[in-house]
Amino acid sequence: MELLKQRILQDGRCYPGGILKVDSFINHQMDPQLMFRIGEEFASLFKDAGINKIVTIEASGIAPAIFVGYIMQQPVVFIKKKQPKTMENMLTSTVHSFTKDRDYTVCISNNFLTPSDRILFIDDFLAYGNAATGIIDLAAQSGATIAGMGFIIEKAFQQGRDALLEKGIRIESLAIIESLDNCQIVIR
Ligand code: 5GP
Repeated sequence: MELLKQRILQDGRCYPGGILKVDSFINHQMDPQLMFRIGEEFASLFKDAGINKIVTIEASGIAPAIFVGYIMQQPVVFIKKKQPKTMENMLTSTVHSFTKDRDYTVCISNNFLTPSDRILFIDDFLAYGNAATGIIDLAAQSGATIAGMGFIIEKAFQQGRDALLEKGIRIESLAIIESLDNCQIVIR
């Protein structure tokens, strides 16, 4: 997605350890016009995939997922990173956070992820694929089918794609970062 690539080159910042900071338009301050275009792009890529639910993980996946759900006219459910006392029929999985370097438990209610769901998982970044692997686990527990996964930004040098392709998941990324070496953003 050309508009997104230009924006990453213009406003993205590199941090040591292979971290790309995009907090002026995705992760903290958000650009709703760009998010809408991102939503249109995912909706177009997955239009024939028979999706009936969009799933994401809080917090940064929610904004793009809402636009995808709005455009595809499907419900959006987000996986929570804290377990509410009141959640019914809770399913849980453990995910390792790349940016925070710790494990945490994520959860979703089985009421909103069921065997009749064909889901599209949307997230801001694909790095090592840890969050995505947690979603695969939750989907398996619930009986839902994963029809595909869409990432705004994929860091190709962290190989998350390979792990997901091995599991037979369709992956679409709107911008693929080849390298952040020497604090240079190189986009495919
Ligand atoms: P993964 O689970 O694929 O290893 O990492 C993806 C998750 O970690 C995303 O949900 C995102 O929040 C976070 N993440 C991974 N790499 C980056 C990065 O370079 N920049 C930012 N802002 N978040 C990242």
